[in-house]
Amino acid sequence: MNAPIQKSIQIAEAATPADHPEFDGHENIVFAHDEESGLRAIIAVHNTKRGPALGGCRMWSYSNTGEALTDALRLSKGMSYKNALAGLDLGGGKSVIIANPREHKTPQLLRAFGRHVHRLGGTYITAEDVGITAADMEIIGSQTPFAKGTEATGLGDPSPYTALGVFEGIKAAVAFKNGTDDLKGARVSVQGLGNVGYTVARHLHIAGAELIVSDINETTVQRACDEFGAQSIAPNTAHAADCDVFAPCALGAGLNTLTIPQIKAPIVAGAANNQLQTTEDGVVLFERGILYAPDYAINAGGVISIALAGAGDSDDHVRQKTENIFNTLTEIFKRSAAEGRPTSVVADELAEEILQR
Ligand code: NAD
Repeated sequence: MNAPIQKSIQIAEAATPADHPEFDGHENIVFAHDEESGLRAIIAVHNTKRGPALGGCRMWSYSNTGEALTDALRLSKGMSYKNALAGLDLGGGKSVIIANPREHKTPQLLRAFGRHVHRLGGTYITAEDVGITAADMEIIGSQTPFAKGTEATGLGDPSPYTALGVFEGIKAAVAFKNGTDDLKGARVSVQGLGNVGYTVARHLHIAGAELIVSDINETTVQRACDEFGAQSIAPNTAHAADCDVFAPCALGAGLNTLTIPQIKAPIVAGAANNQLQTTEDGVVLFERGILYAPDYAINAGGVISIALAGAGDSDDHVRQKTENIFNTLTEIFKRSAAEGRPTSVVADELAEEILQR
């Protein structure tokens, strides 16, 4: 039996979503409620100039609606940028269900969410995110065709494509720094050996890189050491490893005032979302001469596979589009060097330019 959803969710302090500091001209913000199932969700459509707003649904036990609104506004804008830079004919959106996925997730609640997505008439297309599985997406997809990553619409697990894009991104960064994308003998510290990180490590191993690996799961670390001849390092020192590339593939906010001064690698390029704790951290990386591959540009392989699968696109096309992450990042690196501005700032501007076109 699922526990009842906490009733005492606080009201956001901002008078309206448009007064919220993260509001960025969002086109539509919906508070979705369903009495019977207890659904409380926010669907934020940031921008549909390039097409319907694609972005995952996150289920999380937010402590209040204000926190959920902050996440929905920030993440939906991030999806506009990610989809634009990936060259997809899609806008950006995101939804958040305000509940604990382990306690409150029921088929009834997911169906109610699917009906709310359907009411938006295809301006928002939902997909998996934290707290939502492929099986959940099937239930949501029973109420609306505007759900990606279902058996009918998906290529399956997006993480191999994310990993391929990250591998291409690492090659682009190495090529920009060294004049060649040959990874033979390059030392890479891969932090986090989950679905994406482990596959990134495999690509790097095949390309001849020397791996330093870390994860809080020791079994996975041992497996990588055996399979790739990797050296292990404690997860909390992975960023400070003596290496050519630091590849954060675990959690967000790993690049911050504490870790950045300790980074020895001249390149940071990995899969994790929201790697910079604050925008200022992108500036500090630049000032330290560390080439940072902006997270939403390098980790777009997954969304590319979700977006193109089911629209008649073959695996080859998805791979091709994912491999193009090499070119997108090269453009960002060149512009950053030419203009003397951080890659994180240049990526945002490039995305804005694409959105304005
Ligand atoms: P995952 O849950 O499969 O893997 C995360 C791994 O990180 C796990 O093995 C976990 O044990 C490890 N980990 C957790 N805390 C750690 C720590 N402090 N130090 C070292 N390791 C730690 O997730 P994933 O799908 O591989 O995604 C990894 C990152 O990439 C996440 O930030 C995710 O948001 C991002 N991302 C994933 C995709 C995708 O297609 N899966 C797409 C875009 C971005």
